[in-house]
Amino acid sequence: MRLGKLACVRTETPTTEVQHPIPRMLQAIRRSIAPYPRATLFELHEQGYDSVFEQLCACVLSIRTLDETSLPASIELFERARTPQELLKLSDEEIYGCIHTCTFAHQKVSTLRKIAQAIQERGHEPRNFEELTDLPGVGPKCANLVLGIACGVPAIGVDIHVHRITNRWGYVAASTPEKSLNALTQKLPRKHWVEINELLVPFGKHVCTGTLPHCSTCPVYGNCERVGVTKHR
Ligand code: SF4
Repeated sequence: MRLGKLACVRTETPTTEVQHPIPRMLQAIRRSIAPYPRATLFELHEQGYDSVFEQLCACVLSIRTLDETSLPASIELFERARTPQELLKLSDEEIYGCIHTCTFAHQKVSTLRKIAQAIQERGHEPRNFEELTDLPGVGPKCANLVLGIACGVPAIGVDIHVHRITNRWGYVAASTPEKSLNALTQKLPRKHWVEINELLVPFGKHVCTGTLPHCSTCPVYGNCERVGVTKHR
């Protein structure tokens, strides 16, 4: 993936984590997911839909919607509107026509319009966590994914896959994605902050699945504590 210019300040990897095999685990996962499609936002970035506004729209569309649905819906929307100004020229019916296959499509039409209006009123695209989470319908996961993918700022996008898998590893012990985000921010070397979502979304869909994970063929079996895994394939 071409994530471009990193505009951030890098910090040193915490010395307590130097011995943890997480870099090797992520490398093994990188190889194992090669045959599978990328997660929606990373695929859109690869296709050139890499502005903050486009990534925000795609993240909203991906909420509770399969990548197989949100990816083509995002592209259909971007064929009509790639900026807040272009989106605001569309009617609700026209936006709905592009995204109707997504879950909560009517609600998402309203959210997209509110985001476009807010950005237009501000006169600039949001470029930090506070500005992003001030937007309607944008939570920490979307804000961090947009920061990482569109802005080149290291940030951890903790969705249900990242939360489930890092807890199964025993790498963190957190009851919610928000708590996993806090724990990962403390432990995970910064150079892996953006890619962990890119790697663990397809890994969670095809290997470390929600039920009956494929432990017997898993490339990180030897480094995984399998916390909470009672049955597996
Ligand atoms: S060993 Fe099982 S629980 Fe651990 S990462 Fe692999 S599939 Fe997931």
